[in-house]
Amino acid sequence: MSTISLRQVTKRFDKLIAVDAVDLDVGAGEVVCLLGPSGCGKTTTLRMIAGLEAATAGDVLVGGERVNELSPSQRNIAMVFQFYALYPSLTVRENLAFPLAAERIGRDEITRRVQAVAATLELTHVLDRIPGRLAEGEKQRVAVGRAIIRDPSCFLFDEPLSRLDVELRQQMRGKIKEVLSGLSKATVIVTHDQLEALTMADRIAVMRDGRIEQVATPHEIFAKPANLFVASFIGTPQMNLLPAVCRGIENGLIRFGVDAQEVSLPMEPALARLAAGAKVTLGVRPRAFDLAREPSAGTLSAVADLIEPMGAETLVHMLEGERDIRVVVDRTRRVRPGERLHMRPKPGQIHVFDATGGRVSA
Ligand code: ATP
Repeated sequence: MSTISLRQVTKRFDKLIAVDAVDLDVGAGEVVCLLGPSGCGKTTTLRMIAGLEAATAGDVLVGGERVNELSPSQRNIAMVFQFYALYPSLTVRENLAFPLAAERIGRDEITRRVQAVAATLELTHVLDRIPGRLAEGEKQRVAVGRAIIRDPSCFLFDEPLSRLDVELRQQMRGKIKEVLSGLSKATVIVTHDQLEALTMADRIAVMRDGRIEQVATPHEIFAKPANLFVASFIGTPQMNLLPAVCRGIENGLIRFGVDAQEVSLPMEPALARLAAGAKVTLGVRPRAFDLAREPSAGTLSAVADLIEPMGAETLVHMLEGERDIRVVVDRTRRVRPGERLHMRPKPGQIHVFDATGGRVSA
C-alpha cells in the first residue's frame, strides 16, 4: 500500500526546532497539502519523508515500514521540486526515460511508458525538443512526468507551481490533480498558496512554528477552523476577528458585547461552557455579513470608509472607532464612503474562539 505516516517526527537544527513532534497519516490515493507561512517547517517535513534530511526524533513510515534509516533512493519516493532539474541537453523523451535507465526495464517497455506519460501530460508533440525550447508549463509537466514514470511508492511536491504565471498555475493545478487521482499513491504537496491547497488537497495540514495546527478537508478548514491562527490564515480577504465579551444567555440566544455594541447568536451546546464575562473572539468572514441601511437587533453598525473594487465584488472597510471590519458585497451593491451601515452576520457564520484561541463553536 502506498501510505505515508509520521509519528512524533521532530527536526532540530542546533537550538531551532524546525519540526516539532508532528503526527500525520496520508492514505493511498490521498493528496495532503502542507500549508503555512514561510519558515513553519513545511519543506523540512517533506525532506524528512524523502530522506534528504534525517529526523532528530520520531518515525517516518512509508507503506507501513519505518524508513528512517533508508536512503532517498531506497525509499522509492518521487519528488518534484520548485526547480525542475531537467537535463538541459537531453530531449523531453530522454528526460522522461532517464529515471528508468537505472532499472532493468526493456527498451520497448521504456518506449511504451514514455508515450503513455507524454499522452497523459499532453507532451507528445514536444518529445524531441530540449528543455530550453519548452514553455514553462511544459517544463513543469516534464518534471511531473519524470516523477510518475517510475511507479514510485509515493509522491512529494515542493511548491511545484510557484514558478508559473496565474493562468498556467490554474491549468496545472487541475492537471496534477487529475493525474494523481488515477494513481492511488499517497502524495504530499508543500505550498504557501492557500488557493493551491484548497483546490488540490483532499486534506490540508496547516502548520505554524513546526507544529500542525489542524488537519482536515479544505471545506472543514474553511468552515470550521480549529483556532484563531487557522481562521486568520485561511480565506481572502482575511476573516474579521472581533474581541468580544460574553454577556450571558437569554431566550435561547447567547449575547456578546463587541465594543459598545452587541451581537447575539442562537445558543448551541458547544457554547454552554462560556460564562458571562468570558473573553472571546468572534470570527466573521467578510462575505458572511448582510449589509442593511436600517439598524435592527443583532446588527453591528459602522461607517463605510475605504472602498476597494475587486471585479465581481467590492471590499468595503467599515470603521467603528479603532476597528476596521472588512465586508465583501456584490459589485452591484452601491456603498458610499461616509455612509453608516448595519452589518448582520449571516446565520451560522460566526465562529467563536476562547481566550486561548481555541474554537468553541461547533
Ligand atoms: P518556506 O515556505 O519559506 O520554504 P518552510 O515552511 O518550508 O518555509 P523550512 O524550510 O522547513 O520552512 O524551515 C523551517 C525552519 O528551519 C526555518 O526557520 C529555517 O530557517 C530552518 N532551517 C531549514 N533548513 C535549515 C538548515 N539546513 N539549517 C538550519 N536551519 C534550517
